Amino acid sequence: MKPQLSKAAIQLREQFDDTYPDRDRASDGWIGDLRHAARKSDHSPDAQGWVRAIDIDRDLSGKAKPDLMPDLVDQIRLLCKSGLEKRISYIIFDGFIYSAKFRFIKRKYKGANKHDKHCHVSFKKTADNDGAFFQIPMLGGQ
Ligand SMILES: [Zn+2]
Repeated sequence: MKPQLSKAAIQLREQFDDTYPDRDRASDGWIGDLRHAARKSDHSPDAQGWVRAIDIDRDLSGKAKPDLMPDLVDQIRLLCKSGLEKRISYIIFDGFIYSAKFRFIKRKYKGANKHDKHCHVSFKKTADNDGAFFQIPMLGGQ
């Protein structure tokens, strides 16, 4: 089965690219490497080949400063929390996790990788074919 990325994930990544064309992509990723494949991960294709996670490098401005990702993650989190955006299952960034399961409240992330170089976003299975625009102010939305 040929791996394919969730349409929601493709859309979100495109909005990052459109808004921050000079962003650093060194820590970007979608399909799992061997390290990811060793454990269950949304970066690993499921039985139908769907991959439901992307990593976006923290350096949106292309440099360490200005550091825009914390504010942007907050906007995504608030949109999800409001219930207006339902396609994201969880976000991990800078030592914290925000998940649909816990209504996107800020919780300490206990995994080995703190995700301080990139932001991880996982998407729900129901969003596989939903590439609608994300209404995130810092990504061209309202
Ligand atoms: Zn990731």
